[in-house]
Amino acid sequence: MTIDDAIASLAGADRLLVALDFDGTLSPLVDDPMSARMAPAARDAVDAIASSPDTTVALVSGRSLSDLRVIAEHGDDSILLLAGSHGAEHWTPADGTRHPAAGEPTAAEQAERDRLRAEAEALVAGVPGAWIEPKTFGFAVPSRTVPADERAELHARVDALMAAQAPHWRRRTGHHIVEYAFREEGKDTAIAWLRAHTGATAVLFAGDDVTDEDALGSLGPGDVGVRVGAGETAASVRVAGIPELAEMLVRLAHERTRTRE
Ligand SMILES: [Mg+2]
Repeated sequence: MTIDDAIASLAGADRLLVALDFDGTLSPLVDDPMSARMAPAARDAVDAIASSPDTTVALVSGRSLSDLRVIAEHGDDSILLLAGSHGAEHWTPADGTRHPAAGEPTAAEQAERDRLRAEAEALVAGVPGAWIEPKTFGFAVPSRTVPADERAELHARVDALMAAQAPHWRRRTGHHIVEYAFREEGKDTAIAWLRAHTGATAVLFAGDDVTDEDALGSLGPGDVGVRVGAGETAASVRVAGIPELAEMLVRLAHERTRTRE
């Protein structure tokens, strides 16, 4: 499918959901994860598509909801919906922060999470540039700042810990990151929730990483999946990078406004 075909098919939808990954899709990948911010062109594109008729925009990220709100500069008056922790945490303008039916981590889950996190921290302590990123439902091992020839050993060490102590946790990989979580929710869960919540008749989802493929693979006829950058994908459209996605969203916003008004 060409970008023109995708825009033409989405522009006339009765209710459109535009669901976007954050890191690498709207924001350049950076060494300090909490310093990530949307590229200016991406911010403008999100604003444009969010203000077009009968359209809802959601950010769908593996980040914890609280971190996502910081890096997306998302305030209580925002019209953007959020799905954090790959869909295990939600935010809507109507009811603010909440977790879905599965609920907050239990005391036992938190205790196991904190114990494993501490053990992982001890394991990576001597590796230059290595650290453990706390997550609501687990933790992650980013390796962007670790020397390239030490990354495999770093991940192998934490993998061994988790295989021995928490083999039931879900392991996910991304661009220079491995994440461990005691919840199963993937971005496909997030899309299903957002589709139902917004009553969307068509969905555009865009992402740049392996975990985005859960969402891309769950899309149906009439939806459009966009893969940002290289990599094997179930998406029907590929764009080269963040500027090209922003351009596509701006074009969609213009076409949708023209078609629907
Ligand atoms: Mg990403």
